[in-house]
Amino acid sequence: MSATADPMIVRSLEFLGPMANHDGWRPDSLLPEVAFAGRSNVGKSSVLNMLVRRRAFARVSRTPGRTREINFFRVNGEFVFVDLPGYGYARLSKDRRAEWRPLIEGYLRASPQLRGVVLLLDARREPTDDDQAMLGFLVEMEIPTLFAITKIDKLGPRAGEARVEEIASALDLETTQVVPVSAKTGRGRDELASAIMELLATPASPAP
Ligand code: GDP
Repeated sequence: MSATADPMIVRSLEFLGPMANHDGWRPDSLLPEVAFAGRSNVGKSSVLNMLVRRRAFARVSRTPGRTREINFFRVNGEFVFVDLPGYGYARLSKDRRAEWRPLIEGYLRASPQLRGVVLLLDARREPTDDDQAMLGFLVEMEIPTLFAITKIDKLGPRAGEARVEEIASALDLETTQVVPVSAKTGRGRDELASAIMELLATPASPAP
């Protein structure tokens, strides 16, 4: 593949439907899945739009914390993107803030087609307790995870690089697992797309 080839050319995009409860509807699909997780307002909709090169594919949220469903999208009839609800909206009470766990964890526990998760972290913020809980769960479930560090344009080049290294070492990650991205400048789009395509190509792990 030449250096300029697009690792993820999106020819078709179909909304399959929402999953609202951990034991509720989910698509009856055998295609490999990658799920996207992150705190609300982390820039998840923007990153999804950047990846698929559509302006308003995943709605850029106006009211953070309101989208409480898991949304499934089939890409090119070949794989499925799973948009998990943003968690940990700061203005909700502590109890309300924990509401994400049964749905998201329920999905992650019972998804034989899941090849991995892209966990988004804001370049300018410390990981929250919710981020730690999410990460702990992914580790416990041994789910392969990529880390997209969002809004990297908000930091200068040096600070951005230092931040990525800091996150990689704090979480004990390989640098290839951590991709700085900016939906504003498009930085990191191809790198993240390529890492996702690799994840999708891995065989499904055997059912527990
Ligand atoms: P979501 O709640 O995680 O889906 O986040 P959104 O994609 O709706 O973005 C939340 C806010 O961050 C919006 O105001 C976006 O314009 C802004 N934002 C998202 N991505 C970027 C980025 O790469 N750079 C900058 N500067 N702002 C961003």
